[in-house]
Amino acid sequence: MSDLHRLSIRELSEGLAGAKFSSRELTEHYLKRIEKIDAKVQSYITVTAEQALAQADAADAAIKAGQATVLTGLPIAHKDIFCTQGIKTTAGSKMLDNFISPYDATVVAKGKAAGLVTLGKVNMDEFAMGSTSENPYFGSTKNPWNLEHVPGGSSGGSAAVVAADLAPFATGTDTGGSIRQPASFCGLTGLKPTYGRVSRFGMIAYASSMDQGGPMARSAEDCAYLMNVMAGHDAKDSTSVEKEVDDYVANLNGTSVKGLRIGIPKQYFNVAGLDADVKARVEESLKKLEEMGAILVEIDLNMTDSYVPTYYLIAPAEASSNLQRFDGVRYGYRCENPVDLMDLYKRSRSEGFGKEVQQRILIGTYALSAGYYDAYYVKAQKVRRLIQQDFLKAFESVDVIAAPAAPTTAYKIGANLSPVEMYLGDIYTIAVNLAGLPAINAPVGFDKNNLPVGLQLIGNYWSESQLLSVVHQYQQATDWHTKRAAIAEENA
Ligand code: GLN
Repeated sequence: MSDLHRLSIRELSEGLAGAKFSSRELTEHYLKRIEKIDAKVQSYITVTAEQALAQADAADAAIKAGQATVLTGLPIAHKDIFCTQGIKTTAGSKMLDNFISPYDATVVAKGKAAGLVTLGKVNMDEFAMGSTSENPYFGSTKNPWNLEHVPGGSSGGSAAVVAADLAPFATGTDTGGSIRQPASFCGLTGLKPTYGRVSRFGMIAYASSMDQGGPMARSAEDCAYLMNVMAGHDAKDSTSVEKEVDDYVANLNGTSVKGLRIGIPKQYFNVAGLDADVKARVEESLKKLEEMGAILVEIDLNMTDSYVPTYYLIAPAEASSNLQRFDGVRYGYRCENPVDLMDLYKRSRSEGFGKEVQQRILIGTYALSAGYYDAYYVKAQKVRRLIQQDFLKAFESVDVIAAPAAPTTAYKIGANLSPVEMYLGDIYTIAVNLAGLPAINAPVGFDKNNLPVGLQLIGNYWSESQLLSVVHQYQQATDWHTKRAAIAEENA
């Protein structure tokens, strides 16, 4: 079969269960596509063909023996931030180019236990810091909709593999929009769960108080299948929450759009850099939801102007602390011929980290230093609390909050925006991480250059089922999520 990559996760699952095709055939199909098409997209850092075929054979045996889960035999790609035993895990950095983890991240282990077949590890911004996946060491991943544009970031490889049909779904992580923004740039559905819903064990840390893994796929239904595997408490991650996990697939029709109160933050639609096409597409999608019975309610989120400065203090502060472990002694890159310990630290870190990461370590170290801790870090934490309270107040009168996922569509590769311009592009996503809330991106059309636009829906804590359900119903009534980039239509 030459069109297996067009099937949804449910269709793939049914096809495997009904012996219409085997996991080996499916896996070979994807490996062939990767071999032919990934040279153009440059999304994979590591392709694990041999292991994938062995996993596929094991999956086929499990299916035959009646021991399969609904996802047994389905291929997946992992963001290269999730540790994989025996396979290198780089976090997109020269620093970890030779790092082979002795264990699997919990998300990876759960995937294996569910019978998923790992196709490989995909590119990202270095240590998940960035919005373009223009990686200084591994090169730029391309946006499947237009190869001259970025796929977004930091989970840009995860978005690109799905949008080019080089994997049916992928894992991503979102510390400040890194699932939602690339999903938006590549026309996909991506869910950032509530902080604590998905285990962070074995997920290389960027900003630990915000890091959260989640699914990236074509539709809410596809995401729900992966979310069922990813979610849940993990004794190995003290920040994961002991709370019952919903059956996200069973709940896809659990929330009625009829009567759903959608908050429209006034401030969000008056942001200076908001592109006219993005605004128009998002408004059209809200109109559609209104036709389906939703009630649009104008709300205030008064802290909007504080999002970028607050996030860009707290995230680098945590990063500077987390990245201290990469000093050339225990993990990763070590410089040649150090003359003494200080030289080893200095050169290993300046040679091993790219410019953006170094910049953030410097900013974070400054914000945490004795003389400035109160003025910057503590102040930012106080503002963070106000941002959270702003959301909680809004949720007293609405069920979900609507926003663009990003003020623009995908940037051109090499656009070389200044840090401030780049950081302002995160205005719609980062407050969700500061507050620990769940949010989803859904594709809602295209701009004048045929680049995808995304609608973001932000929910209250633990409302993943509701978000997936609302998007699922929108996707039953529209077909934006079924549109494919030309490169995805190419056959291998
Ligand atoms: N653009 C955000 C940043 O650079 C993305 C972070 C993320 O979610 N990993 O911090």
